[in-house]
Amino acid sequence: MAEGARETRPAALPAEVEKHVHALRRGFGAWPTLAFGLPPAMGDARWTPELILAVWGQAETGRVPGGLEHRVGRSGGGFDVLGFRFAPPERWVPEGEPVDLSLDLNRRGDGRRLTLPVPWYGGGMSFGSVSEQVMLARAEAARRWGTLTCSGEGGYPASLHPYRDHVITQVATGMFGVREETIQWAPVVEFKYAQGAKPGLGGHLLGDKATTAVAEIREAVPWVSLFSPFPFHSVYSVEDHRKHVDWVRTVNPDALVSVKVSTPIDVDMVAVGSYHAGAHVLHVDGGYGGTGAAPEIAKKNIAMPIELALPRVHRFLEEEGIRDELVVVASGGIRTADDVAKAIALGADGCVLGTTELVALGCTRCGNCERGRGCPFGLTTTDPELSLLVDPAWGADRLDRLYAAFRARLEEILRRLGLRSVRELRGRTDLLRFGGPGGPEGSDLSLPGGGEVGGPGDAR
Ligand code: SF4
Repeated sequence: MAEGARETRPAALPAEVEKHVHALRRGFGAWPTLAFGLPPAMGDARWTPELILAVWGQAETGRVPGGLEHRVGRSGGGFDVLGFRFAPPERWVPEGEPVDLSLDLNRRGDGRRLTLPVPWYGGGMSFGSVSEQVMLARAEAARRWGTLTCSGEGGYPASLHPYRDHVITQVATGMFGVREETIQWAPVVEFKYAQGAKPGLGGHLLGDKATTAVAEIREAVPWVSLFSPFPFHSVYSVEDHRKHVDWVRTVNPDALVSVKVSTPIDVDMVAVGSYHAGAHVLHVDGGYGGTGAAPEIAKKNIAMPIELALPRVHRFLEEEGIRDELVVVASGGIRTADDVAKAIALGADGCVLGTTELVALGCTRCGNCERGRGCPFGLTTTDPELSLLVDPAWGADRLDRLYAAFRARLEEILRRLGLRSVRELRGRTDLLRFGGPGGPEGSDLSLPGGGEVGGPGDAR
């Protein structure tokens, strides 16, 4: 862990906690081997049991798993029916030759450069929605990889101060945890105008998760439900939006500004407006995101799927002649390295990971996230005992290995497409293949030469 990071665990765990931690970790290692078959009642059509186990396996080993479908779910649409049109083998980029995965977050040429070595970073999950231990694990993984994580709307506890160069400060209507210093420290400030999982609904932390520690950072009353209502009533025009950006840059001239929006039907106009307001990054959040805390009636039913929104935004920004100045990142349904590659081929520059990171830490998609003691794995909880199930160092190691597996798979996809840089993939819908409503073609996971990567619709 970073120097100065406060230890959030007691030196000796209570015996019952230790017993559960031991059992859970054995399970996370054993289930992906399929020695016990597929677990019953896990996941859903998008996050199938195999996909969950594949993420567990990647977080355990750092490698793309063999034998498990690690690329797509079975939703019958979107990323799940898209494959790649790989080039003939003679045009593949040879192993050993570099493939550039870096993502430059400032293309406006107006201040500091911020380049991430991989085209993804961690999305906003607030202190209160997840535990301090989970935040620490994500921040440590971001530090190791030179990438970013995001505070969500709720600020962050003092234990994260050593990681502040890697923590995006999110600003939403409740202004929870937003202080002068959290803006001054932030490499990126993210305005959350909407969330894809629940556009038009704002944020809501139930009272039993608003513990004393959470409420203190949010400058609120403990054990009371905290709302962050939609929308910003100070923003009804591009000029209003510009004032927000100017406010941040006055407090911290070095900060890059990201604007998180959901995917309404006019998302392309929103993108252009954000550019003219001065944003460096447009964060487009599709309708499949959110943890189990988002209301069922909203999830997947309001916002446009990210697969439809991205080409729309990309094309419109191109037509307006500003595509190369605004970085577009996608979230809300990015589960795998294949999804990252597909989102970029559809028009994004990079991706933001949220649920995938929770799955790497043990989430089974049971959907109990909103309850104070509902998460069986101690992830989306602020309960002091339940949170002990996650050791930040253990969690950071798992995310570290997941990132390594993602990087390997993404590099492999680019090599087989004949591309030497992830930037060459942006907007290349011609390199995608529609597999049809029955699912993607070609489910063979093997590679010539015995590797363990491959993709639906591979050109062989
Ligand atoms: S395992 Fe925890 S984080 Fe995952 S869906 Fe269930 S309650 Fe939410």
